[in-house]
Amino acid sequence: MSTHDVLLTGGRVIDPATGFDAVADLAITGGEITYLAAPGKETPEAETVVDATGKILAPGFIDLHAHGQNLTGHRLQAFDGVTTTLELESGAAPIRSALNWSAEQGRPLHYGFSAGWLHSRILVMEELEDKADALDPLPLDSWASLQHLQSWRGEATPEQIGRIVELTAKQLDAGGLGIGMLLGYAPGTCAAELQAIAELAVQRDVPLFVHARRGGPEGLEELLELSRSTGVQVHLCHFGSTNSGSLAESTQLVLDAYAEGLPFTTESYPFGMSSTVIGAAFLDPEVMKQTGRDPRRIIVLETGEEIASYERLAELRAEDPGTLILGRTYDERIPEDRAALQQAVTLKDAAFASDSMPVKPASSGCMAGLENPTDIDEWPLPEGFVVHPRATGCFTRAISWLARDAQALSLSEVIARSSTIPARIMSRAFPEFKRKGTLQPGSDADLVVFDLESLTPNEDFTRVEPTTGVDQLWVGGVQVIEDGQLKPEAKPGRALLG
Ligand SMILES: [Zn+2]
Repeated sequence: MSTHDVLLTGGRVIDPATGFDAVADLAITGGEITYLAAPGKETPEAETVVDATGKILAPGFIDLHAHGQNLTGHRLQAFDGVTTTLELESGAAPIRSALNWSAEQGRPLHYGFSAGWLHSRILVMEELEDKADALDPLPLDSWASLQHLQSWRGEATPEQIGRIVELTAKQLDAGGLGIGMLLGYAPGTCAAELQAIAELAVQRDVPLFVHARRGGPEGLEELLELSRSTGVQVHLCHFGSTNSGSLAESTQLVLDAYAEGLPFTTESYPFGMSSTVIGAAFLDPEVMKQTGRDPRRIIVLETGEEIASYERLAELRAEDPGTLILGRTYDERIPEDRAALQQAVTLKDAAFASDSMPVKPASSGCMAGLENPTDIDEWPLPEGFVVHPRATGCFTRAISWLARDAQALSLSEVIARSSTIPARIMSRAFPEFKRKGTLQPGSDADLVVFDLESLTPNEDFTRVEPTTGVDQLWVGGVQVIEDGQLKPEAKPGRALLG
């Protein structure tokens, strides 16, 4: 009989890819799952045996939408059950900086970036191509630092479009997993540019990951039409937050797109609060007035200030347009909003994806004034940081809220949306993902073990706190969390490249 590296016994193993859901023994050897069966007469031999009685074993979660791509972000996501964390909505350009930086520091989780269309667009339209290497390697931070510039939000000339497409294609050559399109942040983009990028994606047979130009049916229909006319695979980011004002109509559009067979997929994060930079085009006070949105629903992340008026909003945007804010898209204190949020995030066949943001020093905390928190390599994380809790407990909130407490989705369904569905979305273009999102022998040993009853994601917006209840986490067969404790030296994460 062969000997396995690790054997987990007595846990409830849920593999939505095959429908397997039973108490079973599971073994891993090297980077692979090598055994899965209900307990029999003979127990397989292993170097290490872990008693998982009473726990849930699931394929590691695959996050399609994570901006918090530094060491701290990865470590926080490990406690959320994540084994693969991808920056696909924004993507990167130059992608080489992001990949080199991640590889040099090492990462506990598998990671990858899409080709950043908007980053390429900024480099071209602001004539910054020769300064690109000096930008922060974290795409979200480099983008936040360029919010004071304006040209990149408007329409590009045909000559510029040619250069943007070329620069985006280069990021695909350098390992981009599809093309990230923060379209809603550059609403002046013309149809010809959108068409040219979609054609590039079709030519390379990769998906687009899009923040829609507008919220609601109009933004959604633009993307469905693009997919219909070019055949491009479109993944719509954060359906829930982008369609909060038109839930019934937008839901129907998505269901119709599924029925039509369009290569269209989507995701949501299970929070009513959104988070972005205050300089976003859709937070322009004039735009907000037109659409009847209240500035008092916006909160400055680092100070907790609720923005009292359109005038105050304009002032803060002028001061530092890269400031991170929170937005009460759904007000979870109001039962109707909470019900609408639940409806939005349980949309048929949609993935969960965190939209995690990088941690920032709280203005009142001891880290205030820290210039660049990107490179912190300290664990446990010191006090004095803030972040939207979707960075620390997205998937575990989906499980504890939607499966355990509200019973709106089965546990297997939530795990499918956290692992198997995102793996399928990626595997259409990137076959490597066929080895993920499942616990079948022969697949990658990316695995989470958690205690359903005690699972507690942090929901406090004023402090960073890892989720408790995730007991064990293996990434590529290497243990990153052991008995609820992070192993800070464990950095088995591999770059996933297109
Ligand atoms: Zn977005």
